[in-house]
Parts: sequence; structure tokens; C-alpha cells
Amino acid sequence: MKVLVLNCGSSSVKFQMFEMDKEDNIAIGIIEKIGSSNAILTFKPKGREKIVQTREIMNHQVALDLVINTLMNSQYGILKSKSEIDAIGHRLVHGGEEFAQSVFITDEVKEGLRRCIQFAPLHNPHNLKGVEVCEKILPGIPQVGVFDTAFHHSLPPKAYIYALPMALYRKLRIRRYGFHGTSHKYVVDKAAKYLNTPIEKLKIISCHLGNGCSITAVDGGKSVDTSMGFTPLEGLVMGTRCGDIDPALVSYIAQNENLSLEKIDNLMNKSSGMLGLTETSNDLREIEFEAEKGSKQHKLAMDIFCYRIKKYIGAYAAVLGGLDVLIFTAGIGEKSWYIRGEVLKNMEYLGIKFHPKKNNKNEFDIGTGKVKVLVIPTNEELAIARDTVTVLNSIKKETEKPVSEEIVSEEISQLTSDDKAELISIWFKNPYISPLELSQKLSKKSGKKVSIHVVKQELKILGLDKVSEKKKIEFTKRTY
Ligand code: ADP
Repeated sequence: MKVLVLNCGSSSVKFQMFEMDKEDNIAIGIIEKIGSSNAILTFKPKGREKIVQTREIMNHQVALDLVINTLMNSQYGILKSKSEIDAIGHRLVHGGEEFAQSVFITDEVKEGLRRCIQFAPLHNPHNLKGVEVCEKILPGIPQVGVFDTAFHHSLPPKAYIYALPMALYRKLRIRRYGFHGTSHKYVVDKAAKYLNTPIEKLKIISCHLGNGCSITAVDGGKSVDTSMGFTPLEGLVMGTRCGDIDPALVSYIAQNENLSLEKIDNLMNKSSGMLGLTETSNDLREIEFEAEKGSKQHKLAMDIFCYRIKKYIGAYAAVLGGLDVLIFTAGIGEKSWYIRGEVLKNMEYLGIKFHPKKNNKNEFDIGTGKVKVLVIPTNEELAIARDTVTVLNSIKKETEKPVSEEIVSEEISQLTSDDKAELISIWFKNPYISPLELSQKLSKKSGKKVSIHVVKQELKILGLDKVSEKKKIEFTKRTY
């Protein structure tokens, strides 16, 4: 089964193709600077040369067309036709309170995504655009949405409600949502597997330290607290984000620097963190280099960065009431032995001890104390591809569950001629529609539950399943 994983941002589209039977990553690429005449396509098919091209790409439709054409290119492509793509998995940033897990994308899901735009106005519109363009250029290919926020749905109210007037939560849904959920989930699952221990028995703290940084407390496989909040600005010090600050500073800076709220938002998201502290760079490699050369300012920035992580580890050990595993992941977590070493210093009282040589070599298992300390490379794209397969398989299982003819006939007898006319009308608007989506739409319209089995049976009776076959839609393969 081939899964295309897409991450559609405002000016970039990242894509990876997986052959899921072996979880093999067969191609990876990115289109940057979308909306300009010098957009850049970088594409690397597995085991072959990297291709870099510059061309005009004014919008996401053109960008995604290029992704598909690149995948099918006769010289360096990896597909012969579009129909080889079995499914598309989208990284979706914000699922608000609506989406607690990965979902098969239907019109209803898209409506839900639109409602979540208010929470992530810089990300969700582009994620949604990616879904809509795929519907056009890859019709009939099932799409699954995997949310950055979903893993944190298990947070208890005491962890996600801010001490603001409750009316703000009720009215504006202001609360902690948390991000990097796909990455945190991937590494904690990997840790449990490595330790050969059921995840239900583990208390884990996962530190995702990349350009964006977050830390999550995971109890028995469930996220119980996380450092990012309503937006990704809260929590740890990051590349360009300040993380936790006194909220009163917003009005203080506004008054004293005569800045608009938008400018302050920008200042805290884009000019703060390691960039703001060092006044030179948000790239930890450069910061480490300068500190090594003797820059006190760069050393201080790293001290502040590590101190904040340490504080959160202490807090989350208290939240969890103990600790079995501490995980480091993402660019800095995986590769900076210095940062890990500083964070891990003087933590023996918590049962955290580490092996300096193993740490210096970025080895997988660097702990020597009661608490396991693991350096686990994250792989959000593979996690998205896995979730895509899981969602589709569960729908397929549901679809293929044997149902007696009597039950289906009974359900069909409940359909009025208006319901049947509605079914045809929905199908006519989109003959690529899946029976699942058709059943959901019809259930909503008719106000009664119409199962997938009834829909499939009705399509068969009306001969519409054959029409779909003629349109080369693989209904037998794609029964989702
Ligand atoms: P993103 O959040 O953009 O996915 P990454 O997970 O790739 O970011 O992490 C980027 C960060 O990792 C940068 O600060 C970079 O300097 C840091 N990094 C990457 N390689 C190393 C390394 N060898 N040593 C120290 N820091 C590194």
C-alpha cells in the first residue's frame, strides 16, 4: 500500500511517499517559496540523486500538481500513474476540541477543520487547501487527517484550563491544546517497544527539541500535560519563540515600545527565543560554535534554554508521581550532546543518571540510573502514514463486517423515495464519493442512520457501482 504524506504550509509543501508493506520511505521532497516566480522543488527518490529545480509556482494547486508530476516523472519519478497512490495522509496542525484522533476526511471533517481555523489561522487554511486540491487532482483517493493536537486530547481539565474567567473558555474555547502530538506519540510508543514493557505501565517525559520545542508528560501512554498551550508559543525557550513569560509584559511592551498587538505577537514568535537572546542566530549549531569560541551571551542563551527544560522535567515528574523514561527527540534532542548533558546534570535525586560517552555519541540508550534516558529519532511522516493505514483499515473492517441480508433489507425498507432521490443526488455531485461518506451525508440529510451496507446495496440496485467502475474507481479496492 502506497501512502503519500503531505504537510502543506503557507509557502511550502513537504511530501514523502511510503511503501507501507515494509514501511519503506521511497521518496522525499519539498517545494518552498510557493507564491513566487522562484519557488524551489527539491526531490530525492530513495537510492538515487537529489533533484533541485527552480520555477514559478504561484499557488498550492500548481505546487501539488508538480508534486504528482514529479512522483510520476519518467526519468526520476517513482510512480507510473496516479492510481498507484492508495491513500494520502495530511498533517493537520489544529483539531481544536473536535478531533481527538486521526480521521478519514469527509465534507463534515472539512467543515470541522474550517471551524478550527480560528485557533491556527497561519496553518489550518493551508492544510485545508492541500486537502481540497488533492480532491481535485487525485479524485477518489482516500485522504486521512492526522492532527498535531490529537494526542493531547487526554489532558485532564486541571491541566488544560487556564485560570482566566471561565466564560472565556466557554465562549472562545481558550484552553491548552498542545502540539507536536504526532512526534511525542511516536517516540513514547518506540520507547515502550524498546523496553519491551506495556506502555500502560510507563511514566514518560518526552522532550521534543527542534526549532519548536515542547515537553510532554505521558502516563500509561496518555498525554497528561504538555508545555505548549493555546498556541505553540507557550512553554520552553525555542528557536525564535520566547515560551513562558509574564503575560503582563504584553501591555508593558506595547506601552513602552509603542507596538501594536500584532507586532508584539510577531516579536514573541519570530524574534525571541534563542534568536532574541543571542542576537545572532536561532540555529543551535551556530550558537554552540559561538559559545565554544568564548561568547558569554551565547553561553547564557544555552543556559536559559536548558534551565527551562530542567524546570519542566521536575514539574512533570511531580505531575506523574514518578518517572520511568526520559526521552530526547528532534534536531537538538537527537544531536546536541551538550544540551542533553546540561539538562541531565544534577538530576540523580530523580533517579536520572547518564553515561557521558554514550551521550557524546548520541547513542539511543544513554541512561545508567533507575530512569531510562533514551535518544529517539522522531519520524512524524511515518507516524502519519501509519495512522493513515490504521484509519483506512478500521473503516474497511467496518465496511466488510458481515451483516445479514435481512438487516440490510429492513434498513432499505425504511428509506423513503425522497431518501433514495437524495442518495442519487449526492452521488451525482461526486461519483468518486466513498460509501462511507455517502452514508454519513445521507444519515445527516434524512435524520436516520443509513449504514454503509445499505448505501452499497442501493448503489448496486441502481447500477451506479458499475458506472463508478467504468470511471476506473476501484470500489472493490477502496471500500472506505
Ligand atoms: P524543526 O522544528 O524545524 O523540524 P529540527 O527538529 O530539524 O527542527 O531541529 C532544528 C534544530 O536542531 C536547530 O536548532 C539545529 O541547529 C539543531 N541541530 C541540528 N543538528 C544539530 C547538531 N548536530 N548539533 C546541535 N544542534 C543541531
